[in-house]
Amino acid sequence: MANAKPRNVQTLIKQDRDLRFRSLETDPFESMMQRFDDAARRLNLEPGLYKVLRAPEKQLIVSIPIMRDSGEIEVFTGIRVQHNTSRGPGKGGLRFDLGVTLEEVNALAAWMTWKCAVVNLPFGGAKGGVICDPHALSAAELEKITRRYTSAIIDMLGPDSDVPAPDVNTNERVMAWIMDTYSMHKRHTVTAVVTGKPVEMGGSLGRREATGRGCLVTTKCALRHRKMKVKGATVAIQGFGNVGSTTARLMQQEGMKVIAVSDKSGGIHSQKGLDIEHCVEWVKEHRFLEGYPGAVQVTNEELLTLPCDVLVPAALENVITSKNADLVRAKIICEGANGPTTARADAILDRNGIYVIPDILANAGGVTVSYFEWVQDRGGYFWDEHTVNERLRIIMEKAFEEVAAMSEKHDVSMRIGAYMLAIERVAAVHRLRGMYA
Ligand code: NAD
Repeated sequence: MANAKPRNVQTLIKQDRDLRFRSLETDPFESMMQRFDDAARRLNLEPGLYKVLRAPEKQLIVSIPIMRDSGEIEVFTGIRVQHNTSRGPGKGGLRFDLGVTLEEVNALAAWMTWKCAVVNLPFGGAKGGVICDPHALSAAELEKITRRYTSAIIDMLGPDSDVPAPDVNTNERVMAWIMDTYSMHKRHTVTAVVTGKPVEMGGSLGRREATGRGCLVTTKCALRHRKMKVKGATVAIQGFGNVGSTTARLMQQEGMKVIAVSDKSGGIHSQKGLDIEHCVEWVKEHRFLEGYPGAVQVTNEELLTLPCDVLVPAALENVITSKNADLVRAKIICEGANGPTTARADAILDRNGIYVIPDILANAGGVTVSYFEWVQDRGGYFWDEHTVNERLRIIMEKAFEEVAAMSEKHDVSMRIGAYMLAIERVAAVHRLRGMYA
């Protein structure tokens, strides 16, 4: 930027915002930057560090040519971004989706930097994506895409540099292909290059449930803070995939009353509480919640505005916006999904006294057990599930208390408290390491 030297971070943030195009409320990068700017301003971050921390370190866009089952050649586009690796290797998922863009991957990579710092893991933030519709591809085609993508970005990958994990539309099987492709290139087995692998090949026990378990732990902390009871607390959950269904199951096991759940097909509601095990069985058999007997149908929009103690958005980004935030009647929101609430909605929820456990804290259980998996792979010594779950609980409770203390000290929301804690931790490492130039 050829502007005059900014005196402080406030001036720099203003210059930067004036230069950035006026984007939509739902733009993920803008959503991340608004919280980042707010926290940086309150921390009075040095202008130089502000410039370093807002910019992704490395962005790679690759072509992925594969031969389709039909014999036709198709070329897909893959992206990998490392936002910040000052605290350790880049860590972040890989998503297969038609909506993947560089802007989105940049935002998700930055979120990973802040998330890893909130739970104090020795990782930086990264993210990857392939622009494709995985539902329109065969397993053989997905394997080709995964392997070609891995070999195209292989110079970025490695247990000490960048460690992918599953995200939207990728799973244990995709991680196994990445691990195998990377290992073939390196001429020896390298389990620690990805996390979220099958347990048989170096995955961790408890990883599959970790994000939902983290949501449960942080929700219990929030209920305690609000002096509300865990037993009997009513819960509505949007999304019934890995995060949503695990959170629902674990919360029910704790004596909470899950009154509504939903998925892509719509939602179901029962004021006396749903039988979550039965819902899980139903989805196993019928793919979606649609048609589930003995409950009232609700839309996904209606679910978000049901009166309840805890609302868990665990599906998509941007579901709570300035348009519906005023209608939310939950007392606590636990953000299982990444970016379910826009920055404009934050202000409305805050004004209405709704306690938000922000995504970079609430759903950090997944990356925490990914870290455990990486540690176990590198040590070649595996822990039992009880040990994994207990260590996860300790880390999540500590992170919750640290974020709560930050938010109380600066009289800010839990979200801005979490960003302040994270930025401070990453900035501290930059100050210690100094500038290599
Ligand atoms: P998933 O694919 O297992 O499940 C997604 C669920 O959302 C499904 O039930 C799907 O039907 C539902 N859904 C999709 N479109 C919807 C719509 N328009 N309205 C309502 N529901 C819809 O995904 P997941 O792993 O559970 O991830 C969910 C969210 O949590 C994502 O934002 C993801 O980035 C985030 N997250 C996941 C993890 C993890 O470990 N899996 C960790 C951190 C954050």
